[in-house]
Amino acid sequence: MSQAQVQDKPRRAVESGVPDNQPFLHPVLKKNYGNWKYHDRPRPGVLHHVAHSGDEIWSVRAGTQRQMDVHTIRTLCDIADQYADGYVRFTIRANIEFMLAKQERVAPLIETLEKAGFPVGGTGNSVSMIAHTQGWLHCDIPGTDASGVVKALMDELYDEFKREEMPSRVHLSTSCCEINCGGQADIAIIIQHTKPPKINHDLVANVCERPAVVARCPVAAIRPALVNGKPSLEVDEKKCICCGACYPPCPPMQINDPVHSKFAVWVGGKNSNARAKPTFMKMVASGLPNNPPRWPEVSEIVKKILYTYKEDARSWERLSDWVERIGWPRFFEKTGLPFTKYLIDDWRGARASLNASTHIRF
Ligand code: SF4
Ligand code: SF4
Repeated sequence: MSQAQVQDKPRRAVESGVPDNQPFLHPVLKKNYGNWKYHDRPRPGVLHHVAHSGDEIWSVRAGTQRQMDVHTIRTLCDIADQYADGYVRFTIRANIEFMLAKQERVAPLIETLEKAGFPVGGTGNSVSMIAHTQGWLHCDIPGTDASGVVKALMDELYDEFKREEMPSRVHLSTSCCEINCGGQADIAIIIQHTKPPKINHDLVANVCERPAVVARCPVAAIRPALVNGKPSLEVDEKKCICCGACYPPCPPMQINDPVHSKFAVWVGGKNSNARAKPTFMKMVASGLPNNPPRWPEVSEIVKKILYTYKEDARSWERLSDWVERIGWPRFFEKTGLPFTKYLIDDWRGARASLNASTHIRF
C-alpha cells in the first residue's frame, strides 16, 4: 500500500483496550516518565512533582459536574490553553487536573477556575468528588437520579472538598441501582428496593429470555410459569431479596418504585492497600426516602457520619480503621444512628438463603 493510500484510509475506531497515553502526556511528564524524586502538596488542590532531572510540574485539581455540556467543556479547554499549554486529564472521580510547568501560573489558574465556578481541591485528606454513576442520562435501570444526588451532597460538602481537614482521605460513592456501579467507599449511598418486582405478564414472552432471567436471580426465586395461556415468569416473594437483578434483562419485571425504592447508607469500604487491607462496607442506615431534588434525609445521615468521624478519628485513620478501633456499638452510639436488625450482620444470615454455588437451580 502506498503512503497516499495509507493516508486516504479512514481512521478506524479502536474499540478494545486502553489507548496509549504517551501522545497525550505533558512534555515534562513524558520526559521524566518513571523518574520522579518526590512530590508534595503546596496547598489543597495542588500537587507538585519534582523529577531526578530537576524538572518540576504542578497539577491543579478542580471539581467538575462530570456530566458536562459542550459549553462547559469549551470553557475548561480555553482555561487549559491559557494556563496549561492545553494539557489536562480527568481523574476517576471526575475531577479535572491541569498540568503546569511554570509555578507562576498556578495562582492565576486557581483564580480563573474559582471565578468560573470550578472549586479547586480534592487532594490529600479532603472529601474528594463522589464517584458518580450514570443515572437517567445513560443507563436504563436506575431507581433514582445519580447526578442529582451527587450535586445535592457536594453542595453540602463543598468546603470539605476545598480543605484537607479530614483525618484521612474520604471517598464517597453513589449507586442508582442496587447491583451495579456503586463501588466500595468510605461512605456509599445506594438505592434499596423494598418490594419484589411487579411483572407485566403480557410483555415477558416478547421481551425477556426467560432462562437468562431465571439464572440471574441470586436466591433462585424466579420460576418459568404460564399466565393467561402465555409463557411468563413468577417470583417466590418469600425468597426474593428485592435486589433488582432480574430487571435489567427483563424490563417487564419492574422493581423501581417512587415510594418503595429507598436509599441505604453503607460505610467502611476501601479499595486501596495503603496502611490497611481493603475492606467491604456495611449498611448502617436503611429505608431513607428517595426524595429529589435535594435528598435532605440522605445528606443529614452522611454529614452525621462524616463529622463524627472527623471529630473522633485519629490522624490517618480511614473510616474503616476508625470503626475497627472503636467497634460497631460505639459507632452507632457516637453517630446517634438507630441500630436495627436489618443492619451490618445481615450477610451472616444470608448464608442460608443466598445461592452461593455456581450451579443454577430451578
Ligand atoms: S448504578 Fe445501576 S442504574 Fe446506576 S448507572 Fe450503574 S448500572 Fe445504571
Ligand atoms: S433477581 Fe432479585 S429482585 Fe429479582 S426475583 Fe430474584 S431476588 Fe427478587
